[in-house]
Amino acid sequence: MHQYSGVLKINLSALRRNWRVMRSRFRGQYCGAVVKANAYGLGVAPVVQTLYSEGCRHFFVATLDEAMQVRRLVPEPADIFVLQGVYPGAEQRFCDERLVPVIYNADMLRRWLSASSAGPRRCALKINTGMNRLGLNLQELGDFFQAHEDWPADVRIELVMSHLACADEPDHQLNSSQLALFRRVADVVRQRFPHTIFSLANSAGIFLGEDWHFDLARPGIALYGGCCAPALQGLLSVVVTLHLPVMQLRHVAAGESIGYGADFVAPQDLRVLVVSGGYADGILRSVSPRMAAWRGERLPLVGRISMDSCVFDATHLALDDVPGEGDFIEVIGEHQSLDGLADAAGTISYELLTRLGDRLSKVYFEELEHIAQSSSGISQH
Ligand SMILES: *Cc1c(COP(=O)(O)O)cnc(C)c1O
Repeated sequence: MHQYSGVLKINLSALRRNWRVMRSRFRGQYCGAVVKANAYGLGVAPVVQTLYSEGCRHFFVATLDEAMQVRRLVPEPADIFVLQGVYPGAEQRFCDERLVPVIYNADMLRRWLSASSAGPRRCALKINTGMNRLGLNLQELGDFFQAHEDWPADVRIELVMSHLACADEPDHQLNSSQLALFRRVADVVRQRFPHTIFSLANSAGIFLGEDWHFDLARPGIALYGGCCAPALQGLLSVVVTLHLPVMQLRHVAAGESIGYGADFVAPQDLRVLVVSGGYADGILRSVSPRMAAWRGERLPLVGRISMDSCVFDATHLALDDVPGEGDFIEVIGEHQSLDGLADAAGTISYELLTRLGDRLSKVYFEELEHIAQSSSGISQH
């Protein structure tokens, strides 16, 4: 180590196990993976390669840039779906790179129909069933089909999908109404395109019941260890752990304050650890004062989180147990879960993961082979 930087360990064996859990719970034909936003911040290359080696052949990304990254990682016939659809003028690029745009409005679909390409123009359609974000309404879809009786033979609708707004709340009534609407969509599409497959379920959607499954699942967060619905409790392996190094031990006298705003005032003489890692590394400021680091023993956070550091109270530890400079304390791991920390910050695991900063060293490993491989980031060990 030549500098104090936090270490994000990513257990690729756990990622494999989580994908297998999703795969085994899913009754449809294909289990895909959502790897947008750099695989939820974990690093798209190792994640995609690992999932591909497990047999995953359907990858979802948000943008064209993300899709190009994945295209270089996986040989065909893996499908890469671009949730942002195809930007005007980018049609040729999609054809050349054999990417599948997820088309969500009539204009985009019209452009795709009239784009020229040598090979088949494959696309997916996104239908709005209640999320009211992106997507064609059922009516718009029906109208479009009627207005385009002469469908170009080389335009293939591979997939029709919709996204659940409340899959993490199994009893929410929107789950059933979105399902009902999606079934009507499927009926309309099947009449015209009998080979199209359908997808409704994200991670939590898989656990709503088989009615929500259709042909293809699109899990994201559960693969990375985020327990996004009650039914996933106890099923997932921990993929991500975060450890931060101690930079300095400090004694703070009773009545003195710690950190910006002097918010925290020591109620007694304290022994504290100043740790490398702050909000610039994704240790969200909103987590104070509820976060505690662990090292077998709880270490409560004291004072506000700064950009590059935060401070933990180690007063209660026996002297020979106190971590020293360069020792690492756990912030996400066995003792403090990803979801627990997200909760403490008043957010969700998705936000926590995608905010983890570039300064953290990422260490990828497999449990069985014990192959450790360090990658990317400014800091390396
Ligand atoms: C992000 C996303 C997913 C993955 O959802 P998770 O809750 O992470 O499983 C699936 N489908 C769409 C359209 C998405 O945008």
